[in-house]
Amino acid sequence: MQRAIVMGGSYAGLFAARVLSDYAEEVVVLEPDEIGQNGIGSRAPQRQQLHALLAMGLAQLETWFPAITQELVDAGAPLGEGDDVQFYVDGRLKAPVSGARMLGATRPFLEAHLRRRVTSLENVRILRLQAGGLVFDGDRVAGVVTAAPDGTRGEVIDAGLVVDAMGRSSRLGSWLAQHGWEGPATDRMHIDLGYATAAFERGSELGGTVIAHSSPGPASGYLPTLTEAGALAAVEGDRWSVVLAGYAHHRPGTDADAFLARMGRCVDPLRKVADNCSMIGDVKTFHFAAGQRRSFSRLRRFPGGLVVVGDALCSVNPVYGQGLTLAALEANCLAAHLRSADSWREPAMGYFRRAEAVADAAWQISSIADLAQPHVTGPYPAGYRLIRRMADMVTTASVIDSGVNSVYMDVVNMLKHPRALSSPQVIGRAVRVLLAR
Ligand SMILES: Cc1cc2nc3c(=O)[nH]c(=O)nc-3n(C[C@H](O)[C@H](O)[C@H](O)COP(=O)(O)OP(=O)(O)OC[C@H]3O[C@@H](n4cnc5c(N)ncnc54)[C@H](O)[C@@H]3O)c2cc1C
Repeated sequence: MQRAIVMGGSYAGLFAARVLSDYAEEVVVLEPDEIGQNGIGSRAPQRQQLHALLAMGLAQLETWFPAITQELVDAGAPLGEGDDVQFYVDGRLKAPVSGARMLGATRPFLEAHLRRRVTSLENVRILRLQAGGLVFDGDRVAGVVTAAPDGTRGEVIDAGLVVDAMGRSSRLGSWLAQHGWEGPATDRMHIDLGYATAAFERGSELGGTVIAHSSPGPASGYLPTLTEAGALAAVEGDRWSVVLAGYAHHRPGTDADAFLARMGRCVDPLRKVADNCSMIGDVKTFHFAAGQRRSFSRLRRFPGGLVVVGDALCSVNPVYGQGLTLAALEANCLAAHLRSADSWREPAMGYFRRAEAVADAAWQISSIADLAQPHVTGPYPAGYRLIRRMADMVTTASVIDSGVNSVYMDVVNMLKHPRALSSPQVIGRAVRVLLAR
């Protein structure tokens, strides 16, 4: 392939560029925002919120960018293992599990390192331009119409393969429609989630803790009655990054005193940080109205030379920290697609089937939990009541039993498919644990 273009140079775009650098003579990434460690980028304001990188996401990062974990640790990002990573449900610390590793880092820090690695590849260039439309040659995409970040000036760059990595607000559907192509069907789940993140000075108040995560569970009907939903991560620069989350009328705001008071109603680690550490800067909020996923694999016709990755394909409830890992797994799907010669010229239905299967696994985890919220009213999957009862049972057992929790955390970390939680072994063990209790 002579040239590939990636539209969007954030996390998913950077991963796609890394994969494409093995298959194209030249990879051009179009990214209008000035991003990096000190820049947030107006088109992806979620960069200011706490971002957890799941164990699978960390493993994928290391696979595609060897030794990057050590590079991040050397630059100040703490790496948590064993007891350093704590998950609480309904205020109770879950049974210990061994094995999984999680890194504490802010999103701009992580992305800046990723970007540096990608730009150091000889055949990758990032241009400070935005994509403004597609150019077709018959039934193939043959290039991208570009514009400056302010929207002026437009020129065309030819490409053999174009990747949409423009995030949730990608306008790919309308660009396809302009050229007479059917757009993808979009599933939405309205969850009305509020997020608020603040940074704190970090000392030795929590020992070696790197991640502490608290969520309401079955005992509180998934409502913040026993404990608030929140998390903290030890991050680079000797800081804590603390996030609070809440749905509908319980969305957190920007008021610092209210933020601290709410941390005081959360689990021990968040309480300790509220009591002992100084807040740095302001509280930043984000409203996440709905999870959404686009389905391309069921389209009857689709142009060759075009794929979609990251949030442009599927954007799930951020509470479960899956987005970055999903982007990396979709990059794997892209690599699998490109492995067969000339496949990039054809409609990428094989890619979409793989990527949508991965996205569906993430969607299952977040949507089953979201549907427990009283204000979330569907769409419900087939067999929802049974799934809900099994999920509640396994979650309750995972709080007290390491065997169940080990599988549970592998699913949370996207190391295993959610169907692992409904295996006869896990269900049987959960029943035994709960009966013994
Ligand atoms: C509040 C919140 C918290 C989150 N927390 C986590 C977490 O803890 N862990 C986790 O894994 N995930 C988390 N996520 C999800 C994660 O942020 C996303 O999954 C991830 O950003 C997706 O990356 P992306 O590259 O697909 O899209 P984005 O990061 O949204 O980037 C899209 C890029 O496309 C560019 N762009 C837009 N339009 C154009 C155009 N016309 N031409 C060229 N470029 C364009 C933008 O400038 C931007 O850089 C969270 C999300 C939110 C909202």
